Amino acid sequence: MGKIGETTLEINLSALAHNYRFLRSKIAPNTKFLAVVKAFAYGSDMVAVAQKMEGLGVDYFAVAYAREGILLREAGIAKPILVLHPLPINFEEIIDHHLEPNIYSPKILKEFIQVAKAKKLTQYPVHLKFNTGLNRLGFWENDVDFIFEQVKDTPEVKVTSLFSHLAASEDSNEKTFSENQINTFKKIAEALSQKLGHRPMRHMLNTSGVLNYPEAQFEMVRSGIGLYGYGNHKTIDAQLRPVATLKTIISQIHRIEPNETVGYNRAFKSDGYRITATLPLGHADGIGRQYGNGNAHVLIHGKKAPIIGNVCMDMIMVDVTNIDCKEGDEVLVFGQQKSAEEFASGAKTISYEILTALSQRIKRVIVED
Ligand SMILES: *Cc1c(COP(=O)(O)O)cnc(C)c1O
Repeated sequence: MGKIGETTLEINLSALAHNYRFLRSKIAPNTKFLAVVKAFAYGSDMVAVAQKMEGLGVDYFAVAYAREGILLREAGIAKPILVLHPLPINFEEIIDHHLEPNIYSPKILKEFIQVAKAKKLTQYPVHLKFNTGLNRLGFWENDVDFIFEQVKDTPEVKVTSLFSHLAASEDSNEKTFSENQINTFKKIAEALSQKLGHRPMRHMLNTSGVLNYPEAQFEMVRSGIGLYGYGNHKTIDAQLRPVATLKTIISQIHRIEPNETVGYNRAFKSDGYRITATLPLGHADGIGRQYGNGNAHVLIHGKKAPIIGNVCMDMIMVDVTNIDCKEGDEVLVFGQQKSAEEFASGAKTISYEILTALSQRIKRVIVED
């Protein structure tokens, strides 16, 4: 990699392949693997990631919203795409792009069947989600009879999978709760499969689920964060490789006198002579104000430079008093050598949030090694 010259998010597809192989090694060879590529593949590059994953032989993709799935289809992605959070207004375009809806409530089921009939579909794949404790999206256990009544004489749709989602798969203190969710899901899937007379695929595990509850892998697992290099646990993180590395450069260096202030609202007050560097990266790029005032740092020539004062829309200022650096030098915000999880924890948040917050304004560069 040569000089970046501006704020750049490097997306390492070799790291992605490594993480995929690692996660695959944790499940049985015949268990299907669904790659979650919602939110621009966790803030990276949805199309580049999906193309790479398709090449690696992934079985399924998932996005949150219909628009994301349409972008994948327009880029030529051919594998099945599950839309995790479809809304009735999206049903027609979901069908027109061969996307597969998550059907999560009686209302959504009825309305999707109506559209399927109007469009004269046959055996259109749908996925039924059950709520087993997260209380977010999903049918309740006692909706099974209703579901069967709706689909039994409806050749327009085919129940392709049954799924659920763990509320605390990364938290070993919640093992009993998670196991109860798994047992409830098994019971629901068994009851509905009996009625349907066929066995739709079952899937329940996200990344932490794969790592902590492999016995519940059923016919497929759904992984997002692990593919991007984070496993919600230090020992797992050490075996994964961050896919996204955020770098920037020093735009300008300032010498600050004692009692001067830096940035908006004069939030940083200098207690002595200070040297600051201004970086072309701000809250409009996804580095929220919670990272300011010393809560996070960047690395310049391997040394820590804390963010001082308030984060501006397009810039941050960092303290480089003890770092030998000059205008134009490269800055590592997070990624390889410095995890996004660590960067995020300073602002009391998680890797998922900082990664998906990175705005589309940041230049993306695809790299392999
Ligand atoms: C986002 C999402 C996932 C992926 O979870 P990770 O923790 O990133 O692996 C899996 N399943 C559902 C339903 C999701 O919404």
